[in-house]
Amino acid sequence: MTEKMQNQPMQPSQPWMASVLTLFPDMFPGPLTQSLAGKALAAGLWSLHVTDIRPFGVGVHNKVDDPPFGGGPGMVMRPDVMAAALASASDGLPKDMAKIYLSPRGKRLDQPLVKELAAGPGVLLVCGRYEGLDQRVIDAAGLTEISIGDYVLSGGEMAAQVLIDAVVRLLDGVMGNPMAHQQDSFENGLLEHPLYTHPRDWGGNVVPEILLSGDHGRIAKWRQEAAMALTQKRRPDLWEEWLKSEAKEDQSKGKKLTK
Ligand code: SAH
Repeated sequence: MTEKMQNQPMQPSQPWMASVLTLFPDMFPGPLTQSLAGKALAAGLWSLHVTDIRPFGVGVHNKVDDPPFGGGPGMVMRPDVMAAALASASDGLPKDMAKIYLSPRGKRLDQPLVKELAAGPGVLLVCGRYEGLDQRVIDAAGLTEISIGDYVLSGGEMAAQVLIDAVVRLLDGVMGNPMAHQQDSFENGLLEHPLYTHPRDWGGNVVPEILLSGDHGRIAKWRQEAAMALTQKRRPDLWEEWLKSEAKEDQSKGKKLTK
């Protein structure tokens, strides 16, 4: 690297972007205008693009759906319409942008996946309605199906907002204290410890004494133990995973020490 290049300021990179395809564009930004995500949006820390699917519909009525081949209830979103909307929304987007179809059949959204998406340039989010998308356009566009939980919503819009909110709070500069989310549930594989604030004595319910001690070491230990107890009780699945990852860490520490 030449001295001249070293002195050049870093090229400002594009902020993280969410590009959303929906039949209900008025649902955006919706709740994303509020609080952390809203302030960050106004500050240009992330950007939102919304593509209305309706104008890509066919015929005089801009039809976007048709009954399922093979029979059955409901309507299916047409692949030709969706492909046209996707082509328009994808124009100029970074090649490595995650392309996601919000769907109850998808991989469950969790904090590791949220972090992965926050580390990339952004997401293209397809919101389904009715019975969902024709399989051929999911395959042809290479959409990854992601679910926000084992229940069925009437559309992908709120699921998209959940995903965006979870990612945006991790982006640089969004949280006042960048360390704030490191203690959150799932960040270290555990649920968060209980939280307390003023007043110290609330109608006879007092804050655990140790939190007032000022002894950061003991407080950290108390919180860790409380987080472990809570996770073990409420989420045996997470607890098992955490125990496994701890065992692995101990093993690798052991190996390093014996070298
Ligand atoms: N027939 C589908 C459900 C369609 S619900 C099925 O049984 O799998 C209509 C749309 O809502 C879906 O296309 C999807 O975009 C969205 N949706 C519903 N539940 C969701 C969930 N749990 N996570 C993410 N998106 C969901």
